This record gives sequence, structure tokens and C-alpha cells, in this order.
Amino acid sequence: MEKLSADVAVVACGPAGLAAAISAAEAGLSVIALEKSKRTGGGANAGMGPLGLNTDVQRRQLSTVSVEKAFEMFMNYTHWRVDANLVKTYFEKSADTIRWLEDMGVQFYQASRYFPGSEATWHIVMPGNGKPGPGAGRTMILRMTERAKALGVQFMMETAGQSLVMEDGKVAGVVAKTKDGETVTIGCKAAVIATGGFGGDAQMVREQTGYVYNQDFFGFQIPGLVGDGIRMAKEAGAASTDIQMELTVMLPTRYLNDTVRAAFHQPNLLVNLQGERFFNEDLFENSTYAANAVNIQKGRCGVMVLDDAAKQLYVDRGVDVQSMVLNVSDLKGFDEGLEKGIAAGSQYVFKADTLEELAEKAGIQVDTFLKTVEQYNHYCDTYDAQFGKRHEYMKPIRKAPFYAGKFFPGAYGTLGGIKINYRTEVMTQDFDVIPGLYAAGTDTCTIYGDSYMFLLPGNSMGYCLNTGRMAGENIAAYLNAANA
Ligand SMILES: Cc1cc2nc3c(=O)[nH]c(=O)nc-3n(C[C@H](O)[C@H](O)[C@H](O)COP(=O)(O)OP(=O)(O)OC[C@H]3O[C@@H](n4cnc5c(N)ncnc54)[C@H](O)[C@@H]3O)c2cc1C
Repeated sequence: MEKLSADVAVVACGPAGLAAAISAAEAGLSVIALEKSKRTGGGANAGMGPLGLNTDVQRRQLSTVSVEKAFEMFMNYTHWRVDANLVKTYFEKSADTIRWLEDMGVQFYQASRYFPGSEATWHIVMPGNGKPGPGAGRTMILRMTERAKALGVQFMMETAGQSLVMEDGKVAGVVAKTKDGETVTIGCKAAVIATGGFGGDAQMVREQTGYVYNQDFFGFQIPGLVGDGIRMAKEAGAASTDIQMELTVMLPTRYLNDTVRAAFHQPNLLVNLQGERFFNEDLFENSTYAANAVNIQKGRCGVMVLDDAAKQLYVDRGVDVQSMVLNVSDLKGFDEGLEKGIAAGSQYVFKADTLEELAEKAGIQVDTFLKTVEQYNHYCDTYDAQFGKRHEYMKPIRKAPFYAGKFFPGAYGTLGGIKINYRTEVMTQDFDVIPGLYAAGTDTCTIYGDSYMFLLPGNSMGYCLNTGRMAGENIAAYLNAANA
């Protein structure tokens, strides 16, 4: 069995683990960073950027969001059921973290909203190819990995943390396994766990949250995210927290191009399988709200409906709502994309010449659906007496052909598992800290309460980067105090 040693062992190299490794190394500590997969970055490789508050980027855009405002929004949203000190510490650090990333060569395209009504807190990374969009986060990860290497962090790729070594109640090491099955023990004075939850493990998701992947739930099932860190911390005495899925609403995208997806992400009539309207579609792009509403419908399903007049308007004039993720401005190519998607086997989008036929194809109760459409069309001609939707988005369903897309809840991954305090120290059930044990990122993220807080976008990666940094810095303070 190979034996190595360092001041700090970091278990996993997603954004949280990388931030922890860099900040510990910046404090002069030796660091070994374990990563189970072949590349660093975890989910952040697919993302676009972190939250920042009161940043230089926002100031340049004249769209600053203050820490005080964000904190008040957050605590009202969560009814103070979350750790206020952890939220405040993270928010206060966020501007400095954006600068810290810029100093290592990360460039930000802009601080963006996610949807109308959200704040411009989402710091979109400018990727190497100069085209900001999904996957831009990879460029940030590359800069962070380079910075960690320059600081002397020793990476052990394709090596998975397995358990913690405890001596006299303190962390004394991490046991890991290489891809060849060899066991390595890393002696250390402190360890950070940041393994990204268990969104990749369908069975755990089913057992712990009730969701069944690819049935009534569609998510980013990132391989390797199987709850290793949560288990390791628990075995070392950590208290568990509630676990949520980081919900978003999803049209299963197999066979569908972005134009088709964008068409069904417009604020048009949304009904359940019983044919009833249940949501103010104005809010559809807050995908947490939409997912929550869809989640409690029959079959966990919501069906977005539009007619040919709406589609043609989107083709001619452009869409109502354009997002950084679905960056499609008009629907040219929709007809071809839809035909192709249906022909290729998508079971989630439909086209029909009558409303009856559309309802039957989509599995919606026909009679109620027809009444709902009639009522909705009346609201379009007058005002939305049901949910008060903005009039500009009220597009009647009158002109054939008609189109429908089925939505379900999905998730970016899991949230929570390991109890920490606002210094990112791992805590026992009795609120005692476990000396030398720190955790960061989604393994610890309970700050949203029951629903992901999308009004301040970039929150997820923002929390991960900032808690990672906090872990590295707090470890330095812990080891300094131990040496004093
Ligand atoms: C498609 C997509 C888009 C997103 N876009 C955004 C966005 O724009 N902004 C935002 O704020 N958030 C976004 N998110 C969420 C964000 O990416 C995650 O919250 C964030 O990546 C979580 O960071 P983490 O470090 O906690 O864990 P992860 O990024 O999940 O990384 C965990 C790492 O741990 C490794 N690992 C697991 N077990 C072990 C083990 N035993 N030993 C060693 N390594 C292990 C994994 O291989 C992985 O590399 C997005 C997520 C997805 C899926």
C-alpha cells in the first residue's frame, strides 16, 4: 500500500474542491487533491458561471446587486430556515472570489440575469472560443487547475477517496483507491470533502428522494457522483442534513434541437394531463418554480401548448423570452426540427391539426382541455383572471396546426448531505466540530431550504467556489492555531 503525506487532502476536484486546494496552497500548505474521474471540474464543466454580488463586473454594467439586498431576498425566500451566517459569509466573499478568479486568468463575459425578474448575478465565463454558452464553465476550471498546479498542488487523477483516517478524534488521513485498484493512504492534518452529492446514482436518488430517472424525472446524471463524500463524512461522525434535488423543469431533449426546445420554453399555455391550467406561465423561465408546479401534477407532467400563429410570430419577430442557455432568437427551422424529432422517436413533442387530436396524442383529458383552451382564449381577449399573466404573453390557441411539448421535473444534481457551520467545519449531531474535517460544495448545500434559489442565478457554482475557498482558508487558520 502506497503512503503519501501532505498538510491537506482534498477529496474531489469539482469547483468546490479546486477552490479549496488553491486557497490552502496559497496559504503555503502542501495539498494532495484526489479526483475520481479523468478531468477536474465536475458539473461546472457543463455550466456557465458563478454568482457574484457587488462585483467590478456588475459595476461596469451599472447593474450592481448588493450583499444586503441579496441577503434579504434569500432569507425572506427561505423563511430563515437556513444558516444565515453561512449565507452571509458566502455572499460577502463572492465579489472577492470573482476578482480572485480574474487574477488567475478567468474572464467574465457579463453579469447576467437567468430570466426576466431574476437579478444580474450570474457571472458568465468567457470561454476560449469566445462564444459564451453552456460549457463556458470549463474555461474557468482549466484556469483554476493551472493555478493549482502552479502552486504545487499534487493531483491524483482517477483516484477516489474512500474513507477518512481518524486519530484521537481528529482527521489524520484519507484512504483512496486508484483506477488500478491500488490503495493509497494520504497522511494529512486536515481534509476537505467536496464530492458533489449523488445525482449520478439513480438508485440512491430513488431511495432518498423518490424520483425515478427517465420515467417522471429527467436530469443531468453525472457519472461518478454517487455520494462518496457524504458516506465518508458520516462514517467519521458527521451529522446528516436533509437532501433535495436541485430541481429544474425539463423537456426531455433527446432528438430535439435547440429551436424546438426554445419554442416550448416560451410563456404559452401550460396544462396538466387532466387538461387544466395550473401555473402563471410568466414565471416559466424560473425553472425552479415551474418544476415545483409540474412536480405536483398527475404524472409529474406539464404540457406546453402553442398554435401556428404564435409559432409564426416567433419566426417572424423573434421569441418572447430568450435565455443565455437556450440562446435562440427566432424559430426559423422549427418545423423541420420538430418533424425530425418526432420521426426520430421523441415521445415528448406533438403536432396535430385539431385540438382534440393534440390532446389525444399528448395524453391530455380532451373535454377539459377544450374548455381550458376556450377559457384561456377568452383571457387572451380580455385579461388573465386566473393567474394574472402579463397580457403581452397571452397568445390564443386558435390556428392549426397545434403544437405541444411535455415537461417533467429534472435536476442538476443533489443538494446537501453533510452538516457544516459557516466556517465549513463538519459538525456532529451535537454541533461539535470534527477537528480537521471540512466540507464544501453541493455535498453541504442546504442554504436554499426546499427550493433552489434561482432569483439570484449562479448560486450553485457560487456557493461551491466560495465554500471551497472558505475551507482552504479556515484550514490554514486551524493549522496555524495548532502550531502556535
Ligand atoms: C448542465 C449543468 C449546468 C450548470 N450550470 C451552472 C451555472 O451556470 N451556474 C451555477 O451556479 N451552477 C451551475 N450548475 C451547477 C454546478 O455546476 C454545481 O453546483 C457544481 O459543479 C457543484 O460543484 P461541486 O464541487 O460541489 O461538485 P461537482 O461539480 O459535482 O464535482 C464533484 C467532483 O467529485 C468527483 N468525485 C466524486 N466522488 C469522488 C471521490 N470519492 N473521490 C474523488 N473524487 C470524487 C467527481 O468526479 C467530480 O469531479 C450546473 C450544473 C449542470 C449539471
